[in-house]
Amino acid sequence: MARYRGSVCRLCRRENMKLFLKGDRCYSDKCAFDRRSYAPGQHGQRRPKFSDYGVQLREKQKVKRMYGLSEKQFRLTFANADKKKGITGTNLLVLLETRLDNVVYLLGFTNSRTQGRHFVKHNHFLVNGKKVNIPSYKVKPGDAVEIRERSKNIKFIEDSLTAVVRRGIPQWLELEKDNKKGVVKSIPAREDINIPIQEQLIVELYSK
Ligand code: SF4
Repeated sequence: MARYRGSVCRLCRRENMKLFLKGDRCYSDKCAFDRRSYAPGQHGQRRPKFSDYGVQLREKQKVKRMYGLSEKQFRLTFANADKKKGITGTNLLVLLETRLDNVVYLLGFTNSRTQGRHFVKHNHFLVNGKKVNIPSYKVKPGDAVEIRERSKNIKFIEDSLTAVVRRGIPQWLELEKDNKKGVVKSIPAREDINIPIQEQLIVELYSK
C-alpha cells in the first residue's frame, strides 16, 4: 500500500490522540488535535461505536502511523517480533523503538520521526563511525549515533537539539549535546517506551 500523503493532523484526529507527527507544531497552540479533538469529516463529531475488531485495528493504526510505517513494513516488523523470545507486543515496540530513524528523533537530532527518516536516507548520520542510510536499521547497546561532520551546522538539526529539552531524552539513550552524539545504553524496557498503547490488542488482531 502506498504511503499516506495527506494531512498528518487528520491522522491524529482520526486516532483520537496526539501522534506527534509535525515536530514543534505539536507542542504549540496551533496543534489541530488540541483545536478540534474529534475525527475529521462530515460525521466526525458522532461518537463511534467500535467492535472488538475495530478497537484492535485502531490500536494497530495508531502505532503504525506514529512510527510512519506502511502496512507491509508493519506486518514484517510484527512477524519478526513474533519470532523472538518473550512477549510479542513488547518485542514489537522494542523493534520499532530501536529503528535508527526513531533513535535520531529521540536524541533530538530531528524534530519528528518523518524528518528522521529523511535525514537518515540522506546520509546525515554515522553509527559507530560508519555511514548508515537505512531508516529501519536497528541500534544495539553500545552503538554510538552521531551527526556527520558536514551536517553538524544544518539549521534543522540545531533547532531540533534546542527543542529536545521539552521532550526529554529516554533513559536508555544518552546525548552528548556538544558533540552532537548519542549512545545507546541499553535495549529499552516496556516502561521506557512512553507511548499510551495497548500493544496486546495488536497481537490479538494479527492472531486471528
Ligand atoms: Fe498531531 Fe502534531 Fe498535528 Fe497536533 S500538530 S494534530 S500532534 S501532527
